[in-house]
Amino acid sequence: MSATERPVALVTGSTSGIGAGIARRLVAEGYTVVLHSRSSVAAGEVLAAELEHAVYAQADLAVEDNRVRLVREAVAQAGRLDVLVNNAGISRVVPHDDLAAATPALWRELHEVNVIAPFHLVAEAEPYLRAAPRGGCVVNISSHAGVRPKGASIPYAATKAALNHTTRLLAVALAPEIRVNAVAPGLVDTPLTADWTAAQELWRERAPMRRAASPDDIAQAVALLVASDYLTGEVLLSDGGLNLT
Ligand code: NAD
Repeated sequence: MSATERPVALVTGSTSGIGAGIARRLVAEGYTVVLHSRSSVAAGEVLAAELEHAVYAQADLAVEDNRVRLVREAVAQAGRLDVLVNNAGISRVVPHDDLAAATPALWRELHEVNVIAPFHLVAEAEPYLRAAPRGGCVVNISSHAGVRPKGASIPYAATKAALNHTTRLLAVALAPEIRVNAVAPGLVDTPLTADWTAAQELWRERAPMRRAASPDDIAQAVALLVASDYLTGEVLLSDGGLNLT
């Protein structure tokens, strides 16, 4: 496939963790990937060179102008936009019964990055996604915490629930040209969760799959949604079956 024939996917927060796994997978599936991060420019450029069919763009998604610039830069660098994966997100650990620690400032910070930024990126990307030859596709990375009363903090879980519902609302609003789905991971082994020993033990002991997910497991679920022409508005829970126990 030549560079211009390859469809293009923008994956936010993709220089580490789950996003890097998704980027690797989509390159292997024939996409050119626009890698993105807030600050790790060097890591982004190294990964882009390694993946070959990839370019890198920096943007702080908490800042409105940066989101507009990111979509424009992605299209300028890669020539088109077929898939948007809203993976970038922030989490803060606050015990659910410590209401005072879940401050209004924390609620706003998490909402800006986890809910408003993904929606705004979809809005900016809409004209390009509509022009995608096979139809445009959005995949939001939410969390099992947005489905069940769990997660690092109440504000975090609430942002992911909002992202799940936004996924369904956008699926209706943008059909049939653009499909919108979400993957809701349980625990995933990334640098972020390296010291979450209680959660790791829970997944080993209680999840039917007896382990946390790897970034590749989540990337596989994303690739499935990207490849499935009839799926829209789905929130795919990928928690190794923990919700069943
Ligand atoms: P991570 O910290 O490695 O990745 C998060 C990415 O988001 C990073 O690249 C970071 O730079 C980017 N990001 C954060 N704030 C940003 C901002 N203001 N502007 C631009 N980029 C920003 O963590 P991860 O575990 O790979 O998480 C990826 C996604 O998966 C997140 O949305 C997270 O909520 C979700 N998730 C993770 C787990 C898990 O167990 N690791 C479970 C469920 C959901």
